Amino acid sequence: MRIGSGYDSHRFDPSRPCVLGGVTIPGSPGLSGFSDGDAVAHAVTDAILGAAAEGDIGTHFPPGDERWRGADSIGLLRQAVALVRARGYRVGNVDVTVICETPKIGPVASAMRESLASALDVGMGSVSVKGKTNERMGWEGRSEGIAVHAVALLLEGP
Ligand code: MG
Repeated sequence: MRIGSGYDSHRFDPSRPCVLGGVTIPGSPGLSGFSDGDAVAHAVTDAILGAAAEGDIGTHFPPGDERWRGADSIGLLRQAVALVRARGYRVGNVDVTVICETPKIGPVASAMRESLASALDVGMGSVSVKGKTNERMGWEGRSEGIAVHAVALLLEGP
């Protein structure tokens, strides 16, 4: 077994659609970033790559590379999963904590789990998504952006 952790944060950018875990959340400000700004997909990608000691999302999909402008970050996660699979690993399970005052994660957690599970090629029972507010403290509490923590377990074998 191999364990990896991932973290990401993005500022809000109200001019963009809000995409988290591959799910577009209507009525919520979007997130800045070179790709679609999906901080959930990015944190999970870093956890997967970290578990395999394969660097991070910036190593494999450098910002500034035109191939990744506005990229669907779930597609990048799929590529990371293919990479670790080529190293002989499969995903065991993933646990994600999203820290923000808005949007409310609970109502979209199930859709996010489904989208992430598809990219990770696991069942929904192997993907957890939890939302936390920061009790209005600090930059997350002031709704300047979103922070995401992720942990991933990789197992050996197909
Ligand atoms: Mg990011």
